[in-house]
Amino acid sequence: METLRIEEMNWWDVQEAINQGYTTVVIGIGSIEQHGPHLPTQTDALIGDVVANRVAARLKNALQAPTIRIGCSDHHLTFPGTISYKESTLKAIIHDYVDSLVRHGFSNFALLPSHGGNFKTTQEAIDEIKTEHPDCKIMGYTDLFGLLDALHSFSGEFGVTEEESGAHAGESETSFMLALAENLVKKERFEPGYIGPLGAEQTQLIFEKGMPTLTKNGILGDPTKASREKGETYLNNLVSLLVDEIRKDLES
Ligand SMILES: [Zn+2]
Repeated sequence: METLRIEEMNWWDVQEAINQGYTTVVIGIGSIEQHGPHLPTQTDALIGDVVANRVAARLKNALQAPTIRIGCSDHHLTFPGTISYKESTLKAIIHDYVDSLVRHGFSNFALLPSHGGNFKTTQEAIDEIKTEHPDCKIMGYTDLFGLLDALHSFSGEFGVTEEESGAHAGESETSFMLALAENLVKKERFEPGYIGPLGAEQTQLIFEKGMPTLTKNGILGDPTKASREKGETYLNNLVSLLVDEIRKDLES
């Protein structure tokens, strides 16, 4: 297969892939939102797209749908350049993706949100789709704290603390971006953001009252310890984790 990206294929090749058993579709769900003074607004869209692509390749029977590049980012809207979908918009888009693709014979769907604000809505869409399409299997990695714990453990292997690794434009996410698009990273602007605990209480505050309640520069974590090499390792680790989760959910 030359490409796993449906948008780069023609309908003959998509049909042929389905005939050969490529009946799983991986969908990344990112965001276009502020990521501190040093990372581009497309950070989550880019990471989500690359991760979904690598996951599809590892699964062996999967194609990749176009990444949903915009997500639910109301909590970032005070920062310029952020574009946010209403939860109802994102949910409708997820439904439309699945409704379209089931017609052609795709039967398994893996939704991979790469932005925290999408997790709840993605899970709600999955629950609805399970009722609407009982013949399909659909899963999503929508455990926000599970993902953060995983990222923090990847950073911990390099002696980076949880607080530095962070949850938004900190060490871990900045390392991802150094690995994927170093030319878009402004290293001279690296500075710490909010460094502290990030549990249910803090995330609720952010989602309800906006990022500035915790961080003025838009960063949760500290990008100063980020590196390209760490980013490559984190990407590999994350892809492995997601492939395991998808296999567990879709192949059971
Ligand atoms: Zn992000």
